Amino acid sequence: MMKKLLPTSTAGSLPKPAWLAQPETLWSPWRLADDELIAGKQDALRLALQAQQQAGVDIISDGEQTRQHFVTTFIEHLDGVDFQQRKTVKIRNRYDASVPVVTDAVARPKSVFVEDATFLRQQTNQPIKWALPGPMTMIDTLYDDHYKSREKLAWEFAKILNQEARELEAAGVDIIQFDEPAFNVFFDEVNDWGIAALEKAVEGLKCETAVHICYGYGIKANTDWKQTLGEEWRQYEDIFPKIQASAIDIVSVECHNSRVPMELIELIRGKKVMVGAIDVATSTVETPQEVAQTLRNALQFVDADKLYPSTNCGMTPLSRTVAAAKMKALCDGADIVRRELSA
Ligand SMILES: [Zn+2]
Repeated sequence: MMKKLLPTSTAGSLPKPAWLAQPETLWSPWRLADDELIAGKQDALRLALQAQQQAGVDIISDGEQTRQHFVTTFIEHLDGVDFQQRKTVKIRNRYDASVPVVTDAVARPKSVFVEDATFLRQQTNQPIKWALPGPMTMIDTLYDDHYKSREKLAWEFAKILNQEARELEAAGVDIIQFDEPAFNVFFDEVNDWGIAALEKAVEGLKCETAVHICYGYGIKANTDWKQTLGEEWRQYEDIFPKIQASAIDIVSVECHNSRVPMELIELIRGKKVMVGAIDVATSTVETPQEVAQTLRNALQFVDADKLYPSTNCGMTPLSRTVAAAKMKALCDGADIVRRELSA
């Protein structure tokens, strides 16, 4: 799809305008309602597009301007989940959260993001990428009182995600990305059925598909968890061999400022790799030289035509100014390496 070498993108979310939702806050509630909210989301989407274009980003995302939470907003549109009932569960073995309850068979009565994707498609001719939650991360954000099996519920969600993905593809989305931070925690389940569920979600798609596996936003629960992971973060080592053998085209990984040994991406050689060259857990803006160095390091383990410079994760919690500067640094850094490669 991409002719340009080192096409840049972000992992997903971008800050929302203050008139739409409380800035620099994860999962903040909407400040508009009804028709004003619908129009406001579209205006925010236009601004997110413009910010990416001004920075020089090649693969455009919606910046998740139309959703409050990367998992819950999708689930809210499904049957079988009761949002009035709440149970406290531990998310990714890390922090307690009050979550809705699966009370009946899950189903998708109508498409969730297709209208938003169609709107973004109308605004630009650049390639567009759309993020959906992955099946394993979805089940980890719910209390299941119906299927009583994580694998079975994940499989049902995979079928629903496949319906949504096919409609997004028909709406002109070029890359569909599944966010699976849970892949970095439940290694046995990932290998037993997690990757199979993901492959069910991408079944029959002709557009490109990606899986985003990160160490999360820069919130305290995540930074505390990272402190327990030791000198080297080798989580990817347990899951990359099976991902390499999977039907997924692109793997989005966290690299810059993390303790992930870069050589682990050798394990997914042959896949396209979205290399996280921007740290989303700090407001310090990377220099283009730092970005370039991360990309040069990655080039030892991924072929140049398969290297996609990106961010470690979403940038919602950052200020809009910082997010814009980070996107610019990403694109300028990619440009440095692009010139080196063509020299
Ligand atoms: Zn992430």
